[in-house]
Amino acid sequence: MKVRVDTDLCAGFGICVGICPEVFELHDDGYATVLVSEVPPELEELVRRAADQCPTQAISLSGDSSD
Ligand code: SF4
Repeated sequence: MKVRVDTDLCAGFGICVGICPEVFELHDDGYATVLVSEVPPELEELVRRAADQCPTQAISLSGDSSD
């Protein structure tokens, strides 16, 4: 599964970073960036939860074959 953050949408709440700091990092510019291009399987659930809880729906997932 791949994950990306749309920096136009991200409002920098940092919720994703709180949920999965292995994958998301809050940039000095105030938006989140993704640290990995491919999400390790053991982190997919956390990344999905972060995407669900992002208030601006800035996190998009792709190549998710497990649903
Ligand atoms: S939860 Fe959403 S809005 Fe907040 S930092 Fe992460 S991507 Fe940005």
